[in-house]
Amino acid sequence: RTRSSAELIRAEEPVLAHNYHPLPVVVARAEGAWVEDVEGRRYLDMLAGYSALNFGHRNPVLIEAAHRQLDRLTLTSRAFHNDQLAEFAESLAALTGQDMVLPMNTGAEAVESAVKVARKWAYEVKGVPADRATIVVASGNFHGRTTTIVSFSTDETARSGFGPFTPGFRIVPYNDLAALEAAVDETTAAVLIEPIQGEAGVVIPDEGYLAGVRALTSRAGCLFIADEIQSGLGRTGRTLAVDHEGVVPDVVLLGKALGGGIVPVSAVVARRDVLGVLQPGEHGSTFGGNPLAAAVGSAVVGLLETGEFQRWAAELGAVLRDGLAALVGKGVVGFRARGLWAGVDVDPAIGTGREISERLMQEGILVKDTHGSTIRLAPPLTITDAELRSALETLEKVLAA
Ligand code: PLP
Repeated sequence: RTRSSAELIRAEEPVLAHNYHPLPVVVARAEGAWVEDVEGRRYLDMLAGYSALNFGHRNPVLIEAAHRQLDRLTLTSRAFHNDQLAEFAESLAALTGQDMVLPMNTGAEAVESAVKVARKWAYEVKGVPADRATIVVASGNFHGRTTTIVSFSTDETARSGFGPFTPGFRIVPYNDLAALEAAVDETTAAVLIEPIQGEAGVVIPDEGYLAGVRALTSRAGCLFIADEIQSGLGRTGRTLAVDHEGVVPDVVLLGKALGGGIVPVSAVVARRDVLGVLQPGEHGSTFGGNPLAAAVGSAVVGLLETGEFQRWAAELGAVLRDGLAALVGKGVVGFRARGLWAGVDVDPAIGTGREISERLMQEGILVKDTHGSTIRLAPPLTITDAELRSALETLEKVLAA
């Protein structure tokens, strides 16, 4: 006998760590922008696995690439070469305008890897005295959950109880070039920022900030590391969010959608003089660069090479922006949007982000709250114009109720 949604939710409680508070929906299958629960109720997925599902659930091109690879070879470890990795690295470097790729699995691992690479680059190339390297980050950041990464979080919930913390990080306000300038000195290995802060509520910096970070880091002789794990791969209407300002960072971090919603795939993508500091034995991962991940990753890059998803995200992004603008004063107090990505601040009198998310769920729309009364919209880039408009109508109805 198959268990009901309610039974499955109850069954999780004693056996699963309580580090999440999911919406009470139990998904059993999905296709494109739609998911279906155990009882067969359908929901429009307006979160898309925090942007891991940019190309939709079970995208046929990606599923086909995964099946083909599953039937041939899944894992070698990097002790040996595999026949899928060269193409993945070549195509990803070409897509992002960089030279070299360090394949990892999760976003946090890509961030950790970049921290190590930046420090080693600082000692070997820049000439920072041993163990003195600093990395400048922004307040409100979200880069993952490891002990080092939470060391430079400004979110007490993410940090509290997990010390002692890793030294070597300086935190400056986001979107503040003067503060960044003041924090950078001769010990600075890198500036690490999200071009758009996703978890903070889709916080978009002022026009010119990213170009300013590029100019400042070039002048100071330190690396600009762009964490595009959530903002990258088509989400904002361009391949990378930094493309909106025509900026090329020294290091780009990718994850989430790079695995097509099928396998965890992340990467540090950088110039040869930066990633070239790593020598055999100094860094690695059993699963990083495995042939299944590489095959899916190559197929993801293939989807992005046509520019079709980026164009659609930009075009439909205008519908999303106009739709949200029309709701300002009708339950929405403010919003930030770029491409198919928006942070929507709901009037707290109407409800918390969680309450709004639950009401939307009852109406067949899945979203996730971030902080307070902010909800985040990030549908698969495969969503249709009609589906998006219907989601906006449902949001209007829920906010008016
Ligand atoms: N960096 C950014 C900008 C993210 O949004 C996230 C996840 O939300 C991460 C890093 C961490 O990725 P992961 O959860 O795969 O470790």
